[in-house]
Amino acid sequence: MRCIFCKNTSASSLSVEHIVPHSFGNRHAILPKGVVCDSCNNYFARKIEQPLLNDKSFRNLRAWYQVPNKRGKPPSLHGFLAGTELEIGLRVNKEGYTLEAERKRESEEINRIISHREEAGHPIAFLFHRSMTPPAALMSRLLAKMALEPISLRMLHDPVLLENLVDEPHWDRLRRWVRVGDNLEHWPYSMRKVFPEETLMRHPETDGWVQAGYSLDLFITTRRETYLAFIFYGYEFVINSGGPSIKGYEEWLVQQNGNSPLIERLGLRIESRDEDKSSQSYLIGSPNIRAGIEFDLNQGIVGIEKKKM
Ligand SMILES: [Zn+2]
Repeated sequence: MRCIFCKNTSASSLSVEHIVPHSFGNRHAILPKGVVCDSCNNYFARKIEQPLLNDKSFRNLRAWYQVPNKRGKPPSLHGFLAGTELEIGLRVNKEGYTLEAERKRESEEINRIISHREEAGHPIAFLFHRSMTPPAALMSRLLAKMALEPISLRMLHDPVLLENLVDEPHWDRLRRWVRVGDNLEHWPYSMRKVFPEETLMRHPETDGWVQAGYSLDLFITTRRETYLAFIFYGYEFVINSGGPSIKGYEEWLVQQNGNSPLIERLGLRIESRDEDKSSQSYLIGSPNIRAGIEFDLNQGIVGIEKKKM
């Protein structure tokens, strides 16, 4: 067996590969050991996923919704002590919350300011960013990684197909971008908000209402380009697996009246209901990947890409 990214033999590799990072809540979309070798798996974790998870966009979104990491812990909310440039993390726990210095050497100063304010009866204000502005190159490389992996997932039943995928030069540019990242200035992706962060959906197993976390799927445009779409708490990211251009997706969006490849294309819809003076959004329907494929077939899209699905 060989790795789909570096093409080296991966027979002795031990790690499974999470297509969506484990810390984004992924427990199911996992490639068995060897599809991605230990060395690539390790590289993605250290050089792409960790820096993205530590960046304030994903860190604060995950902290806000208490999305746990591999060890079951959500990150602390990154912010500032108001009136200073001192960075602090707010960690939610059973007692309420605790504040901790981002830089250990500033702990004393932060504690001094806090106790000074408490003594004077002044409130302690904590300011934090809530925006989705991930570092573009890292985000692009994560999306590109997530684009090749579901293709291999669909070939697991056939070792010959998987071998062909490893040898297919079509993917070499994407491989280099993901694994090294030095072959291009940028590989653009699309990002937009497609539903409010607090949107609820039916849990596929328990049927209870849960917050809509992440979803992903591949889809094909009328140009026969294969795109990966990924949604995280209402933010939709889309990347072209075939090359560094998002034009085909922009064109597809116009044809589809702005519909999302992961919502309306799959037969789902967003419904907003007024409840107690506020509005709550629901993702209605059952997210079924097959529905997406049938939809694509109805669009008359045929060819090699279809077989890969
Ligand atoms: Zn590898």
